[in-house]
Amino acid sequence: MDRTVSDLGAGMPELAFRGTGLTKTYQTGDTQVHALRGVDLTIEAGEMLVLLGPSGSGKSTFLNIVGGLDRPTSGSLTYDGTDLTELSERELTRFRRAHVGFIFQFYNLIPSLTAEENVRLVTDIASKPMDPLDALALVGLADRSDHYPAQLSGGEQQRVAVARAIAKQPSVLLCDEPTGALDSATGVRVLEALEQAHRELGTTVVIITHNAGIANMAHRVFHFLDGRIAQVVVNDKPIEPGQIAW
Ligand code: ADP
Repeated sequence: MDRTVSDLGAGMPELAFRGTGLTKTYQTGDTQVHALRGVDLTIEAGEMLVLLGPSGSGKSTFLNIVGGLDRPTSGSLTYDGTDLTELSERELTRFRRAHVGFIFQFYNLIPSLTAEENVRLVTDIASKPMDPLDALALVGLADRSDHYPAQLSGGEQQRVAVARAIAKQPSVLLCDEPTGALDSATGVRVLEALEQAHRELGTTVVIITHNAGIANMAHRVFHFLDGRIAQVVVNDKPIEPGQIAW
């Protein structure tokens, strides 16, 4: 029988992820790229984490492994006690579907569907979804539900993407440069939407960014360097998105 991570525990675990000795090596032709060189970490449930570090330091590789989009070359990664590295493809897909919301730099909305319909695509296949309109309201877009992506600004489109990601009530939201294409004012609105989901739904949030100011809203900041977490900084007083110096 398949192991189903989604069946584990009624609520959220206290410790969401534990990674030990994670490596990832990409083979391109004769060349090996060591994207991760031995990463140990824990992510607690309900934590807000920011990943900083130069381009190519392994942040996206790490995020994709945590989200079950990719597998490490070696090491272990447990979610709520289940080792994700031992799951079959089908089990890993089920883990992603039940537990993980992704937000990328480009919003990937379907142009021919309204905001509500874009969110509904996800809620239709989720096990405990929010009402799509509630998800849109949570990101401040209650009055834009029948707009098509082309009728929305970049920041609004990204907030629809946030609503889509949170509507299935994932335990963890993984965000790869969510404000990378936005100006500061709209970027703040997107971060406020993420912060709201974090606060109201208890979602664990992990954000990759090049903007060091955003790190001030995290509980902890992982500084990546050359495939390793070179430093972990604990923030005693995370700030509100509106206070971020962009
Ligand atoms: P970051 O997110 O910090 O910019 P990445 O995790 O995207 O870093 O990349 C880490 C290293 O792995 C880089 O050298 C990158 O070129 C390489 N890399 C990432 N994905 C692949 C892939 N699919 N195939 C080959 N090399 C890759």
